Amino acid sequence: MLHRMALILLVEDDRIITAALSRALTDAGHVVRPVGRAADALKIVTEERPDLVILDLGLPDIDGTDALRMMRSVSDVPVIVATARRSEADIISLLSAGADDYVTKPFSGGHILARINAVLRRARSAVDQAPPEIVVGELVINPRQRRAELRGQPLQLTRREFDVLAYLAERVGQVISRRELMNEVWNQARIGEEQTIDVHISWLRRKLGETAAQPRFLHTVRGVGVMMVDPR
Ligand code: CA
Repeated sequence: MLHRMALILLVEDDRIITAALSRALTDAGHVVRPVGRAADALKIVTEERPDLVILDLGLPDIDGTDALRMMRSVSDVPVIVATARRSEADIISLLSAGADDYVTKPFSGGHILARINAVLRRARSAVDQAPPEIVVGELVINPRQRRAELRGQPLQLTRREFDVLAYLAERVGQVISRRELMNEVWNQARIGEEQTIDVHISWLRRKLGETAAQPRFLHTVRGVGVMMVDPR
């Protein structure tokens, strides 16, 4: 795929890092919108609709993970988190909070550019290749508009919940392993993935009005994975 220019929101309070990253990203043909506070970032995400966000977790006004959750509540924009934290628990919590990828500080301009290009490519091909509509019983999913309805009522889904739902709905009757979901929906094979998947499945169940004990659409196959079923 040809390289396309992206509007990148860079949320970083360190001026030296901001200057170096802005230069690297601009040289690579992107447009950079730098801000130093999470509050400004949240405003710009809704008003200017950037193609991608690089979010430093150590910001002066709002804790980075909280900022990420707030961003996710208003936007599906891909987010790469820049963090000095590198424990397994920290990474799981970032991915659960909706990060698409992360880089640990310090990182080079070349390294973050490779991550940016990978995340943008996934986001764009997901839209380009999506089928127009998937129907599973009373559930109607429109991947291009990223909307889902149950019995005519719109579901309020996070980006990840939507991606998991659409992936499973395209494969009704097939048992999908957690590893496959991690590879295909999260696009990564990383430590601690099972808890992340289970958390998203349980949130999704709640929104579909079902429970693990009394499933309708999402059936857990113990020790294997999860399967979407047409409940009719
Ligand atoms: Ca910082």
